[in-house]
Amino acid sequence: MPGFNHHRHWVFDMDGTLTVGIHDFAAIRRHLEVPEGVDILDHLDALPAQQREAGRIWLFEHERELALRSTAANGAVELVRRLCERGDRLGILTRNDRALAYITLEAIGLAGCFQRHCVLGRDEATPKPDPGGLEFFIDHWQVDAEQLVMVGDSRMDMACGRAAGTRTLLVNAPENDFGELTDWQLPDCRALLAGLE
Ligand SMILES: [Mg+2]
Repeated sequence: MPGFNHHRHWVFDMDGTLTVGIHDFAAIRRHLEVPEGVDILDHLDALPAQQREAGRIWLFEHERELALRSTAANGAVELVRRLCERGDRLGILTRNDRALAYITLEAIGLAGCFQRHCVLGRDEATPKPDPGGLEFFIDHWQVDAEQLVMVGDSRMDMACGRAAGTRTLLVNAPENDFGELTDWQLPDCRALLAGLE
């Protein structure tokens, strides 16, 4: 696998990738009574309409509080600004809400680096690990899948990239190791930036 530094199309996960992850998923699962082994968003989708709406509103408010307190991950601001300056195409693919993604990007000073239609939340694309979000970018930017790099911190990010046929880059190694799902693994965004030079 050649290096990642010749790539010019990047899709970032947000929470835990561009920001310091502060989601307490166990607490969210308890509050929403998500059964063991079931995906949080899938669980909400399967509920009767009224409960689903109540669950979605609670999740939105909970994540809004987190978004307002966002802090940038190590090297994330410098990395994204560098890619932006050199004219690379940039997208966000998050399982969070699009409006909250914008609050988060504003909070860490990166909102100006992403075109609005290139920020996809859970209502704009079928949530990761479904490849739908990445397929949007492949189509929108008119590139081959392998020209695009999915940058993330979770198994879902890596699996999403694999399913869409893009390259995958993990930014919280070695704490996490998703084996074959990952093309490149680095400790953080600062190391990614250093690797571009
Ligand atoms: Mg994440």
